[in-house]
Amino acid sequence: MAAIARETSGATTRLILTYVRREAGDEAVDRLIVLSGVDATMAELEDARRWWSYEDKVALFEAAAVVLGQPDVAHRIGASALSANVLPALIPLLRAFGGPSQLLRNVARASTKFSTSGVMEALEVRRRHAVVTYRLLPPHVPNRHDCAYTAGVLAQVGPIFGLPEATVVHETCQVRGAQQCTYEVSWARDARFRSKRTRHHEVLALEATAAIDAAQRREDTAAALLRLSRSVADVSSVADTAQRLAEAIPDVVHSDHATVLLWDEVKASFVVGGTSGLPADLEARAQDFRIDPSWFDQPGVPPIDEPTLIARSEASAPVKMVLEAFEVTHVAFVPVRSRGTMLGLLVATWSTTTPDAADVQLEERLRGLADQAASALENARLLETVRRQALHDGLTGLPNQALFADRVRLALARAQRSGDELTIAVLDLGRFKTVNDSLGHACGDELLIEVGRRLQASVREIDTVARMGGDEFTLLLPGPDGAAAAEQIAARMLAAFEDPFEVSGHLLRVSPSIGFALHPQHGDELDDLLKRADAAMYQAKASGRNTWAIYTSGMSEQAYDRLTLEADLFRAVPEHQLVIAYQPVVRIADGAVVGAEALVRWAHPDLGVLLPDQFIPIAEEVGLVADIDAWVLRRACADLGRAGLHADGPGGVAVNVSGRSLTHPSFAQSVSVAIRNGGIRPDQLVLEVTETVTVDEASGVVEALGDLRRLGVRVAVDDFGRGHSALARLEQLPIDQLKVDKAFLREIRCADAEAPVASAIIAMGLGLGLEVLAEGVERPEQLAFLKSRGCDLAQGHLFGRAAAVPLLDVLRPGVEAR
Ligand code: C2E
Ligand code: CA
Ligand code: CA
Repeated sequence: MAAIARETSGATTRLILTYVRREAGDEAVDRLIVLSGVDATMAELEDARRWWSYEDKVALFEAAAVVLGQPDVAHRIGASALSANVLPALIPLLRAFGGPSQLLRNVARASTKFSTSGVMEALEVRRRHAVVTYRLLPPHVPNRHDCAYTAGVLAQVGPIFGLPEATVVHETCQVRGAQQCTYEVSWARDARFRSKRTRHHEVLALEATAAIDAAQRREDTAAALLRLSRSVADVSSVADTAQRLAEAIPDVVHSDHATVLLWDEVKASFVVGGTSGLPADLEARAQDFRIDPSWFDQPGVPPIDEPTLIARSEASAPVKMVLEAFEVTHVAFVPVRSRGTMLGLLVATWSTTTPDAADVQLEERLRGLADQAASALENARLLETVRRQALHDGLTGLPNQALFADRVRLALARAQRSGDELTIAVLDLGRFKTVNDSLGHACGDELLIEVGRRLQASVREIDTVARMGGDEFTLLLPGPDGAAAAEQIAARMLAAFEDPFEVSGHLLRVSPSIGFALHPQHGDELDDLLKRADAAMYQAKASGRNTWAIYTSGMSEQAYDRLTLEADLFRAVPEHQLVIAYQPVVRIADGAVVGAEALVRWAHPDLGVLLPDQFIPIAEEVGLVADIDAWVLRRACADLGRAGLHADGPGGVAVNVSGRSLTHPSFAQSVSVAIRNGGIRPDQLVLEVTETVTVDEASGVVEALGDLRRLGVRVAVDDFGRGHSALARLEQLPIDQLKVDKAFLREIRCADAEAPVASAIIAMGLGLGLEVLAEGVERPEQLAFLKSRGCDLAQGHLFGRAAAVPLLDVLRPGVEAR
């Protein structure tokens, strides 16, 4: 958790943890943290850049005394300051003071770098002796551990300069009611560091404090940039992002105002995207301001490819004109680029104050801003395009899956508030495949368009008709009385199909099957409702064409005993009851669909569509899983080969392989046959093996994976992080891709969420040179987070659900039903 109070430097908490670890190991550190009650992780407490409250520090001291059984632990921790080396850069800086007396003379300044809850002063400084006072500020309560710690630290003025520890006598103490604590510090003799060139040392000492200040400023910059990244995390439009950036710039570079110029491809010029801090009249002027690129070609205009600071008094004529027009005395700008493309310019301006020309950090801050701006703007652009393209079906113009899902979520939230019911329907056209196959895709398309029209006409204004892909349509029917509405609407929809469809001169009869699921009876979530509506639809289909059914429990889940299911499963492959649902895999950098995962479903003749979780475990037990996997593998390769005939660039397909299949002696053989028969390249196939399978050392998995890779097939570790992963083992496995389990995405609610585990897994995967794919991406914030962590690929409802549609529909969204 982030600390709010800036009272105790993270260097101190790190020192405490380091000491406890050295004395009693990591487990003791865990106990320390739990016992202290400080709401933070080990990594956070060891981050020297953070700040904590005084109370946190005291709580850690008290816990340390208990965990280590050392009543004087705080003194020892203070005394370990030097040997623990928690801030390696600090020692040379402190040494630059030349000796204990010079250091203690500056003690007030040095101590504020580590604690702000009290004031330390050097009352009296002699050659081998000094009196230092420390006054804890209200409302903090003086604590003996804190005093002991201070004494321990003060004793280090000797060792810093190569002398024995200083003697520290704690004369008066606030814990005992004194106004302030007094420490008498004595050290053995003059430091050998002390030389005759004291002036030289004084200069060094000044530099040292300056360096500490610079570090502090860098920390402020980091904090300001962090605030910025928080502020842009939840915006998804370019305009909002530009405005937030403009608001953050003055905060980061301490300017009076700021403007964000965005590069407009169409107008071929920079246009104002956002401003902050400008007086109203100037702001109005800024809004109409444009710079076309030729302006930069004028003599005297500096190039815009580096961070630059210009004073009006020294500016060339064209620059001066602009600065005068905006009544500013200084301007600093930095280009925002992403992969070589110019996105815009961040411009900071000053009129009432002046920038610190000697501030070496300014350039660094501008660069930091530009980096953040680049990724924020890119994210926003990506989201804008995704949103625009992603909401409607290209063929029928109806809402697509994504928009449907959004509307259902909204409707569910409303229904939960009002207590209304809500109905979801799934509609499947009978014989559609026959139309496509016999009359051609153009006819199929025409038919789908007309079906969409009739459906739309048969429902109420408040209802939504969406096309999920292929010949599957879904409906959202909000309303107070679900079951009755379902019945009415079913009747109307079926009536709408009574007249034959006229398509390219043919009269076609279409018989739909409709399944309904109701909220709240059948579920509170879209997923459950869709699955149940699907089950009802298959039930309807099974009972004859042109009919409808409302889900009843038992349709897919219960009532069927396990033995019957087992027996049925033996018929699934030979009787062609298996179906593949494809789910798109998206490249995060540009949102392109680069592949799809094949997920098997079992269209059970009585139970409707069963999901893998309902039958794969049984198949594994009864030894059928290898048959199922082999069927999916053959089918997926064949589908991809067929899709490749139409596609301009081939994508890939991923197939799940259970442990049993993988180690089956003829598995590699069936893989190479499937590739050959499908007419695809081996590297277009990804085989997904779950993490648990790979952990099992004895089973010959490594050899099997090696054989597959020699065929040129790519191997992914699925559900990574779910099981007890042997991280170390990952390095030895012959694999290409890591699929991060969806459980880790749940903790991401905004783009800069900590999500330490997800971050670590991604970083580790990338570090091992693997392609990293995140599963279960449902929200834009998760996508933004993944992007910021450099994750390569993503899969999840945000991009598309698994759907039993032709693979080409999934690989080429927009080229529908072809
Ligand atoms: P998996 O390989 O981890 O597949 C991903 C699962 O997550 C799929 O469930 C998919 O529909 C679901 N999913 C995808 N995106 C999202 C999302 O954004 N949010 C949420 N909450 N879920 C999402 P499905 O299809 O039920 O598959 C379950 C598991 O069954 C698969 O997990 C896989 O381990 C196994 N499986 C599927 N097909 C086969 C197969 O052909 N052979 C074998 N052996 N196992 C298979
Ligand atoms: Ca998988
Ligand atoms: Ca998975």
